[in-house]
Amino acid sequence: MPSPPPDFESRYSAPIPRSRLPRSTEVVIIGGGPAGLEAALAARELGFDTVLLEAGRIGTSIDKWRHVRLFSPWKYNRSQRGIRAVESLGIELPDDEVLPTGGDVLEQYLLPIAHSPSLRGCVHEHVRVVSAVRRDTLKGDLIGNPKRGDRPFRVLWERTDPETTPRNGVALDYVIECRYLIDASGIYQSPNWSGSGGGAAPGERDAGDWITRQLPDPLGRDRKRFSGQKCLVIGGGYSAATCIRDLTTLARETARTEIDWVVRNPDGRMAEIDNDPLAERQELRTAVNALVSDPPSFLRMWPGRAVDEFRFGEVRIRKLSTGSIERLFVDQVISLTGFHPDPTLLRELQVHHCYATDGLMKLSASLLSQDAGGDCLAVESAPSETLRNPEPGLFVIGSKSYGRFSQYLLRSGIEQVDAIFTDLLPAPVR
Ligand SMILES: Cc1cc2nc3c(=O)[nH]c(=O)nc-3n(C[C@H](O)[C@H](O)[C@H](O)COP(=O)(O)OP(=O)(O)OC[C@H]3O[C@@H](n4cnc5c(N)ncnc54)[C@H](O)[C@@H]3O)c2cc1C
Repeated sequence: MPSPPPDFESRYSAPIPRSRLPRSTEVVIIGGGPAGLEAALAARELGFDTVLLEAGRIGTSIDKWRHVRLFSPWKYNRSQRGIRAVESLGIELPDDEVLPTGGDVLEQYLLPIAHSPSLRGCVHEHVRVVSAVRRDTLKGDLIGNPKRGDRPFRVLWERTDPETTPRNGVALDYVIECRYLIDASGIYQSPNWSGSGGGAAPGERDAGDWITRQLPDPLGRDRKRFSGQKCLVIGGGYSAATCIRDLTTLARETARTEIDWVVRNPDGRMAEIDNDPLAERQELRTAVNALVSDPPSFLRMWPGRAVDEFRFGEVRIRKLSTGSIERLFVDQVISLTGFHPDPTLLRELQVHHCYATDGLMKLSASLLSQDAGGDCLAVESAPSETLRNPEPGLFVIGSKSYGRFSQYLLRSGIEQVDAIFTDLLPAPVR
């Protein structure tokens, strides 16, 4: 694999220099993750005046799981646009078949793109979008009428960087208007609750830091937190499996680390995918299913259970088949029960949401109608039209567009951006 230049880290991990935002532009993109950056590249290539607003640093979500090796190799994770932008900086790209970690995606792809000449002046870090509305047009006005598009979007934003001086402790609000709005704000900042039916279990809302809600790094930056602790993991997806694998390694390396694992699935095993094309995913499933079949002394399985109640230090779990309650006493809870889109940003706009996934309605209908057997690679991309909203000029892309449907891939975001800029948006008029 080619190695990055020696000063790579400092060159591209430096913050994007802070600059003034205009009061109006043609395209505003919310979110500087992979989907938002891809949209910015496409919009800029076509000549749209474009502004990308990122609440934290570029790739904030991926940075949180930077230690995780992706299931998908580079060839699925980057676009021709992205490759051109990175290569324009003289950086040689890693081989197509290599599996990057989240940190690699951030440092070898997203950060260089954000610093590339293609996006010069377009990316604004530490700018959080509070809400977006249609100027002088209420949600209930001109229902489904394309005339709504005659008025610009008004996007309310605030600065979140440490240099910002709030007035009387309150961040100042600003507005930027635009013709097209692309929401690529992801879902990683809105974890699901752990209780019955997806609601908060009693005591969960007050549990604070006792519950970790994003995939931790027990062998790296979170080692101290989990070493020698009684850890409870809740959830049966790939994030929970990754966490169990890492905690198991930690427990083998450190004394007194213990793990309880609560899953709803009655046998606790991860479902197989026939001839899985993603070797890393297959390896994780095999390793974790082996632990389930023959748990080491420090791992206790609680299959067919749901969380009933949190009391500080104690978690009550319910056996789904009998309703009986069991009590676990733990130091740390790691709840990995999925994520959902934040509905507040676009609340005043006409967006058609799916009642099961909270993703886009037409897109969800297309995705849910496919029987992909748990394999996200087998999910076919949905037709461009499924990205259209009743609100003209508004596009929700990236993981947020899939909502709770967990089969989103970086590749899906690239395809969505292609669809929008090829089929759905007229070229800018000059
Ligand atoms: C552990 C894990 C492993 C994964 N592995 C794979 C894999 O192997 N292959 C694959 O293809 N996909 C994988 N994914 C799925 C997916 O590709 C990633 O979740 C990806 O980061 C989604 O990109 P996104 O741009 O939609 O959202 P995000 O990466 O979450 O980016 C959204 C951005 O929007 C910003 N934002 C949020 N709200 C606001 C606001 N109000 N104002 C301004 N900015 C805002 C956030 O700070 C964030 O930077 C994985 C996901 C996880 C969690």
